[in-house]
Amino acid sequence: MAEPKNRWTWDLPGFEPKRSAEDQRSPPLVPRLSVSQSSLTPRPDSSKKPIAVRLQKLEKQVKHTRDYYLELKQEATDLKEYSHAKLDRVTRYLGVLADRARKLDQAALESEARIIPLINEKKKVFNDLLMAKGSIKVYCRIRPPFEDEGPSIIELPDEFIVRVNISDDSLANPKKDYEFDRVYGPHVGQGEFFCDVQPFVQSALDGYNVSIFAYGQSGSGKTHTMEGSSHERGLYLRSFEELFDLSNSDTTSSSQYTFYVTVFELHNEQVQDLLVKSLSTSSSNQFSNQDSSLELVQEKVDNPLEFTKVLKVALQNRGTDSSKAIMSHLIVTIHIHYSNWVTGETLYSKLSLVDLPGSECFMVKDATGDHLTSFLHVSKSLSALGDVLNSLTTKKESIPFENSRMTQILSDSLGAHIMLLEA
Ligand code: ADP
Repeated sequence: MAEPKNRWTWDLPGFEPKRSAEDQRSPPLVPRLSVSQSSLTPRPDSSKKPIAVRLQKLEKQVKHTRDYYLELKQEATDLKEYSHAKLDRVTRYLGVLADRARKLDQAALESEARIIPLINEKKKVFNDLLMAKGSIKVYCRIRPPFEDEGPSIIELPDEFIVRVNISDDSLANPKKDYEFDRVYGPHVGQGEFFCDVQPFVQSALDGYNVSIFAYGQSGSGKTHTMEGSSHERGLYLRSFEELFDLSNSDTTSSSQYTFYVTVFELHNEQVQDLLVKSLSTSSSNQFSNQDSSLELVQEKVDNPLEFTKVLKVALQNRGTDSSKAIMSHLIVTIHIHYSNWVTGETLYSKLSLVDLPGSECFMVKDATGDHLTSFLHVSKSLSALGDVLNSLTTKKESIPFENSRMTQILSDSLGAHIMLLEA
């Protein structure tokens, strides 16, 4: 095989240490020469030898030691020169490597600068495609029936229609069809369901505000869909996991994504920040931020595990009062910050996941006292949301965001992509 050209060699011609073949096998053995007191004091039999002979012998030994010392000194000088030259060569080589690394970094930055407009274009096209399919999607998910619910009155003729048998024999056709962007039957698990939510999560990462609402009667499966359980993770966690995975594959050497979470409850038009109490447990990465005239604690989350912990704290802070939960909105928002230090580009978008109050509150007429107040607020809030969605679908010029606290707070998220999950 031919020797590769310009191959680097560590050998320094002319600097090989002067050593015999035997020397190279093992280090030189230094004769242990010592002039001790005993060698100078005459031994019993040595007194017979003439002093001149002993002196001559000692002189020979001294000469031999001196020669050996000079030889060692020369070798030390040679080695020092050799190591200096080698060090010099290594330093120059490191310089060459550093220069090459600099050039490679530069090339990487230049190609990244060329890629960034293409990536932005891709994000825009992807978002336009979603918009073209309709910026508001309404999906219907049907939970498995409970044992005591009797025979099902629902049929699913295809993926888009829910046929409800209204059991009125007086009608010629007692079955009524409701059309959705997609219908999921009771057998559809959390993972399969999330597949259709994924493009919206991708769009949120790309810089567009996205809102997902769970709407339906109490017991219809809103919490199951949003929160899920440890073995059937819901939309909150799946969405964050997706954002986290996508951000890892999208991050370049010059860009970075950072995530913050806010969680609040809206009850009787009053905001309750569900992360306030967590301040006492961990304080390092929290701060308040002005957001739609609402000051909320934002928790920085760097991975799905941290997200799960924050969500757990928030849900614990929400308490266990189920009748209050039925009449309140739970709003989990993931704030997405993107920055690229080469282009100076920064983006901020958010994904809001809202568990709405039980839709039966809408219809209750015989409530009294505190319940009546709550029902009225829920009713107002849900109809305000309905009006906003209606105005957005019919592309009205003015959108009535101001009609409820929830639509006010979410006004900057209601516009790009909205998913309504009806259970
Ligand atoms: P909501 O939040 O609308 O009041 P839940 O999510 O609490 O309703 O659901 C009521 C019950 O039905 C819960 O026990 C839940 O585990 C179960 N459930 C809801 N949806 C599903 C589903 N798709 N698959 C299995 N169980 C479900």
